[in-house]
Amino acid sequence: MLNRPEPTFRESVDLMFNRAVALMDLPPGLEEKIRVCNSTYTVRFGVRLRGQIKTLTGYRAVHSEHMEPVKGGIRYSLGVNQDEVEALAALMTYKCALVETPFGGSKGGLCIDPREYEEHELEMITRRFTYELAKRDLINPSQNVPAPDMGTGEREMAWMADQYARMNTTDINSRACVTGKPPHAGGIQGRVEATGRGVQFALQEFFRHPEDVKAANLSGSLDGKRVIVQGLGNVGYHAAKFLSEEDGAKITGIIERDGGLYDEKGLNIEDVHQHIVRSGGVKGFPSGEYVVDASKLLEEKCDILIPAAIEGVINIGNADRVQANLIIEAANGPVTAPADEILRKKGIVIVPDMFANAGGVTVSYFEWVKNLSHIRFGRMGRRQEEARHQLIVNELQRLDEHLGSSWSMSPGFKKKYLRGAGELELVRSGLDDTMRAAYQSMREVWHSRDDVPDLRMAAYLVSIGRVATSYKAKGL
Ligand code: GLU
Repeated sequence: MLNRPEPTFRESVDLMFNRAVALMDLPPGLEEKIRVCNSTYTVRFGVRLRGQIKTLTGYRAVHSEHMEPVKGGIRYSLGVNQDEVEALAALMTYKCALVETPFGGSKGGLCIDPREYEEHELEMITRRFTYELAKRDLINPSQNVPAPDMGTGEREMAWMADQYARMNTTDINSRACVTGKPPHAGGIQGRVEATGRGVQFALQEFFRHPEDVKAANLSGSLDGKRVIVQGLGNVGYHAAKFLSEEDGAKITGIIERDGGLYDEKGLNIEDVHQHIVRSGGVKGFPSGEYVVDASKLLEEKCDILIPAAIEGVINIGNADRVQANLIIEAANGPVTAPADEILRKKGIVIVPDMFANAGGVTVSYFEWVKNLSHIRFGRMGRRQEEARHQLIVNELQRLDEHLGSSWSMSPGFKKKYLRGAGELELVRSGLDDTMRAAYQSMREVWHSRDDVPDLRMAAYLVSIGRVATSYKAKGL
């Protein structure tokens, strides 16, 4: 254990930033300009609930406006505070730069426990908070575009978009004021699964590089790998589901609010999810072992550990007992800066948050572009693509008839080949491409420089470099 206090979340992000920036040759002052959060707006507003006026506190931090709009989610949680939103806003800046979405970084939060409120109460609260932010252009299609985060989802985004539209009746682009909306209210297919899907694509790309797999003391592919997931919320659920159902990974452990589940043979994620939906927790799940002190599962032996809930879960207090070979940060900031150092010394490879969970903002970018272009992806080209494929299939069919039994098309080829890509396929393809390219940009730095010991530092170097270039182009 290290003999020093745990930094706050924002300090942790700054420590990681400083470690990377020490290797860069930035003009004096620019380093500080990039590190600091540009502004944080705090609002306290009253809402009449259950016959009483309740005062709520909300924040929207804008970390960097080197590109606009700035982008980042809004979370509803009792843990929300200024330090947290500023840390998260900074991570958004670096995340957007790393995956090349043309946004600055921002983040917001409302200090409430959403489970304490009825739906109509949450709607009132959300509309009021939206009003406060929109009034100051902290929600605006060209300046600041929120999205879901912990405790918020499609429903809240639909309320926000509608509230903004009511306040800006002639803004033709009003739908682009938030992302993560339901598909029937200006959203895009594949946004709900996006962050978990991005974690899957990130791991698939990691396992395409045997040198990197070896660095984590692993071998082979994702097939059969033992995975422990902390948090089976939207991100953890989708990541675990796709990895187990499509890549053959075994989810041996799940850590949830009310306890954990452990099964060497692997847990069925859809069954566990349904059980949580029905009963509110993992307790009583018929297979596997129920673990009361779920946090102990973070220290259990596994190949891949996926912290997918909140920041700071791997810290000075438990880092030296973590036994995973590979940690992929599906949450923002799950590993504190001192814990990062301990894990590095132990030889554990970390796929950093700003890359690993960037699937959400990447698909948000697609949604924002869709809203601004006022047309669904694939609408113009799909049938044209199908018609061109039909031409080839017709030719192959002619060949088939001509050559007789010595040659034939594989079963199912025609159907698969003829189907033009719809919005969901296009979104997944764009996301896969983004995750592959971002991983490659990180690993290139990781392997080409002796002074870059890990992927996190490489990620910071790539993203800070891009932000710096953009500031320089503005003459700063
Ligand atoms: N809240 C998500 C994140 O932390 C998504 C942000 C967005 O889509 O703008 O990346």
